[in-house]
Amino acid sequence: MSNLFDRLSRNTPNLAARAIENIDGTIYSYGDLFALSAQIAHVLVAQGVKSGDRVAAQVEKSVPALVLYLATVRAGAVYLPLNTAYTLAELDYFISDSEPSLIVCDPASEPGIQQLAAKVGAKVLTIDPVGKGSLVSAAAEQSPEFNTVARQGDDLAAILYTSGTTGRSKGAMLTHDNLHSNATTLVEYWRFSSKDVLIHALPIYHTHGLFVASNVTFFSGASMIFLPKFDPEKIMELMVRATCLMGVPTFYVRLLQHPKLNKENVKNMRLFVSGSAPLLADTHREWSAKTGHAILERYGMTETNMNTSNPYDGDRVPGAVGYPLPGVSVRIADPESGKLLAADEIGMIEVKGPNVFKGYWRMPEKTEAEFKPDGFFITGDLGKIDARGYVHIVGRGKDLIITGGFNVYPKEIESEIDAMPGVFESAVIGVPHPDFGEGVTAVVVRTKPDQIDEKAIINALQDRLAKFKQPKKIIFLDDLPRNTMGKVQKNVLRDQYANLYTG
Ligand code: AMP
Repeated sequence: MSNLFDRLSRNTPNLAARAIENIDGTIYSYGDLFALSAQIAHVLVAQGVKSGDRVAAQVEKSVPALVLYLATVRAGAVYLPLNTAYTLAELDYFISDSEPSLIVCDPASEPGIQQLAAKVGAKVLTIDPVGKGSLVSAAAEQSPEFNTVARQGDDLAAILYTSGTTGRSKGAMLTHDNLHSNATTLVEYWRFSSKDVLIHALPIYHTHGLFVASNVTFFSGASMIFLPKFDPEKIMELMVRATCLMGVPTFYVRLLQHPKLNKENVKNMRLFVSGSAPLLADTHREWSAKTGHAILERYGMTETNMNTSNPYDGDRVPGAVGYPLPGVSVRIADPESGKLLAADEIGMIEVKGPNVFKGYWRMPEKTEAEFKPDGFFITGDLGKIDARGYVHIVGRGKDLIITGGFNVYPKEIESEIDAMPGVFESAVIGVPHPDFGEGVTAVVVRTKPDQIDEKAIINALQDRLAKFKQPKKIIFLDDLPRNTMGKVQKNVLRDQYANLYTG
C-alpha cells in the first residue's frame, strides 16, 4: 500500500474543514496543514533528505513541529522524535545510533546539537517553542504543492526510541501500515467523526500524543485544540466546547482535584481516554461519580501502537485495559516455558497484528529475542485475560518505573549513581506517588557513612539525566536486601517504602 500521507489526504474530502485550533487562536484547516507539510517537505528535500533517511526532532510542542512529522512521511523519510527532556549526553547515543541526515532542534540547544550532528554528517535546522525558526522560515519560501514520495506499506514511517532495561535504548521501527491500521481501527472503535473536537495536551514525541491523538484526529477529519502542555485550568475551560480528551492517568488525578469539575462542566464531552500507565480503579470510580463518564482505558506501547481497549458501548471495567482491538491477537504465555495459559492465569502478555512494529533499529538479535517463532511479540508486561475476555495488566516483567506517564528504567539511573565516588551500589525503585503514579526513588549504599549525601547525588544527576528520570528521594541503607541467588529484592524495598510519598 501507499505512503501514509497519501492515505490521509485521500481520506480528507473537505480541505476547508478545521484541523487544529492552536493555543494562540490560530486556526489551521486541513488544506493549511497539507500546504505547510508540502513546504516543509520541500525544505527537507533541499537539505538532502532522501527516502528512508531519518529526520530527528527534539523540539517543543508547536503546530509546525507536528507538521514536521507529516512532512517527513510525505518526503518518504523516517520521523524520529526525541523527548525534549533528553540532555546532550543522552542525545549523543540517539544521534550516533540513528544517523539522521537532518536534526531539527530548539534554537537554544543548536550549538550543542551542531557538535553531535557533525559526528554523523547531519544538517541542523530549528523550530522554537512558538513554532518559528530556520526550518519554518525556509518553508515559507516554498511551494504549497509537493508530490508525495511513493512508499510501500512495509517501509518505515517512524522510529521511536524506548528506554532499554540493559541501559541501551532501542529504536522501535514503525511502518506506514502499522500507523495506518492502528489509526483507522481506533477511529472506528472510539467512534471518531468530523464532529469531534479533541483536547490535545500530550507531548508529541511519544506514541500517545503523536500517533494515537494526532492520527485518530486526522484520519477521522476531526479537529483538535492544541495545548503546549497539560494545564488543568485551561482544560476545564475548554471542556465546555470540546468532545474528547486523551490523557495519561496523572491528567485525571489532577483534574479531579479541580473544584469546578462536575457534570455540568463536561456535558459537551463524549469520551475520556486514559493510557500509557495504570489508571487506579479509585480514580476511575471517582471520575464516574463526579462527571457521569466512565474513563475508557486502553493499553499500548511504543513497539505495538494500541493493543487493547475497553469498549465504547458496554462495561468499561476499572482496573482492566479491555478487549484486544479488532485485528489484534492477545494471548498470555508462561514466561519460562512459553506454554499458553488459560483464562485468569497470570503470565506474559504477547501480541500479534498489523499494529506491531517491524523490529528494533539495527538490533536484529534483540528483535529476534522478543518475537516468538509464530510472530507474537513478547511485550514484557505481565497480565491475564479474564473469563469475559478483558485483559488485565498485573505488573511489569521489565522492572520499569512509570512516572507521570514516562517510562524510566532503573538500570540507567543505577549506573549513573553507582559511578559516583563514595557510592558502593544502588537500587532504583518506583513507589506510589499521588501526583506521578510512581515516584523514582534511589536506595543507595555508601562506601563509608557520610561520604556523599542526598543533595550531592541529586545535583550530580542534574546534567546527566532528563528531569523525569531523576530520583525524587534518596534513601541510604547499610546493605541492599538480597535473595539466596544474590539478586537484589526490589519487591522488599518497594514494600518497605510504599508510603514514602503517600504516608
Ligand atoms: P510506552 O512504550 O512508553 O508507551 O510504554 C508502554 C508500557 O506502558 C506498556 O508496556 C505498559 O507497561 C504500560 N502501559 C501502557 N498503557 C497501560 C495501561 N493502560 N495500564 C497499565 N500499563 C500500561
